[in-house]
Amino acid sequence: MSLTDVLAKVESNSEKALELLKEYCRFPSISAHKRAQPETAALVRRILGENGFEAREYPTEGGPNVVFGQLVVDEKKPTLLMYEHYDVQPTDPVNEWKRDPFDPVVEDGKFWARGCGDTKGNLIAQLLAVQAWREVEGAPPINLKFVVEGEEEVGSPHFGSFVEANKEILKADGATIEGGDHLHDGRPKIELGCKGTLYVELVSRTAKVDQHSMYAPIAPNPGWRLIHALNTLRDQRGRVTIPGWLEDARRPTPREIRYLKASGFKAQALKEFWGATDLLGGDNDFELLRRLVYWPTCTICGFESGYTGEGTKTVNPAVAKVKLDFRILPNMRSDKQLVKLQDHLKAKGFSDIEVVYKDHLDPSAISRNARVVKACLKGSVDVYGHEADVWPWSPGASANGFFNEVVGVPSISGPGVSYDGSNYHAPNENIRLADFVGGAKHMAAMIGRF
Ligand SMILES: [Zn+2]
Repeated sequence: MSLTDVLAKVESNSEKALELLKEYCRFPSISAHKRAQPETAALVRRILGENGFEAREYPTEGGPNVVFGQLVVDEKKPTLLMYEHYDVQPTDPVNEWKRDPFDPVVEDGKFWARGCGDTKGNLIAQLLAVQAWREVEGAPPINLKFVVEGEEEVGSPHFGSFVEANKEILKADGATIEGGDHLHDGRPKIELGCKGTLYVELVSRTAKVDQHSMYAPIAPNPGWRLIHALNTLRDQRGRVTIPGWLEDARRPTPREIRYLKASGFKAQALKEFWGATDLLGGDNDFELLRRLVYWPTCTICGFESGYTGEGTKTVNPAVAKVKLDFRILPNMRSDKQLVKLQDHLKAKGFSDIEVVYKDHLDPSAISRNARVVKACLKGSVDVYGHEADVWPWSPGASANGFFNEVVGVPSISGPGVSYDGSNYHAPNENIRLADFVGGAKHMAAMIGRF
């Protein structure tokens, strides 16, 4: 059977693919610092070309090039689109890295380099899958497209206008966004969408200038003012307490709950990675997973007021600011939630606190019955012997919503090469070699099952 041969070919070509991944990861393509963008885009175009894709770079107004490639085998056959990004996160805190982030090494059964998990490893694994099909069968059984941008890690400021201008070429019957993780035990995980975000800053200004703290009995304090307001947004158990906050949210279906119950999710592994003392919500893995997926959040990302340097300074500050990140569920809309937040603060007597909108990404989720989901699950049975863990959406934000709604292509996160210890956005980013080969095989099988 050809799929067996294709999977064997993925395995035997994997060493060479890791060498290519090293080459790719040597480019310090940190989008926040606008580093190595043209060279990295050129490498992506080159390797797409080497794997039979008709590839070109599309300039963006004020941003780095987007690389697009397509391999059309038969117009009548379905098309799978794969979205990746060639940029990476900055490397700070640099002194916590045990190895040079841009000098990739294979050690302890893992591949270490900035960007290997997020998401350079996915592109190389996907190309490894395509290459195996071409070597065994002459061509993959479906049409394939890649779109690889260079600014995902800074919020894709120019990708939207690229998509608007090039909607036609992105048409497809399904898409994979970056890649899915593996759970700690090696089980692949896919997500059918993502939560959204609403990011705001709350500002309390209680005076024109800072004052000596001896005036505190009569001078208002903006830090306390914010703390009192914040206390009305979330309770100690982590529930968002803004009235009507969840009224539009999509509710869990019995089928989704069945899938979550069968999940191999282990909260203990995360707790150990983080070195966290406790987790919110007890110690039952299913309950924690349900919470992770179905709970909205209100997170204090940073709080700034007064003096926080060495020693002491007796000051009653004039201003306090807090950065808040709300994660919202499919069917909730960030603009509507923002109004709810503003109305709530007013109703609680905090109309003096300024709510500054910073950013948003709307949530999205597709059906378990979509072609792209079915192909991915069949592919996981072929490779891993069982279905992937299916999460109705990711607890994080991703480009899923953008692809579902703006591009109009049902999209999922998966298959992928990373795992829950990949340390994305953190020092010592790594992927396990077994997940790299597993992810590439999963992609090869999914292409066969699409
Ligand atoms: Zn990232």
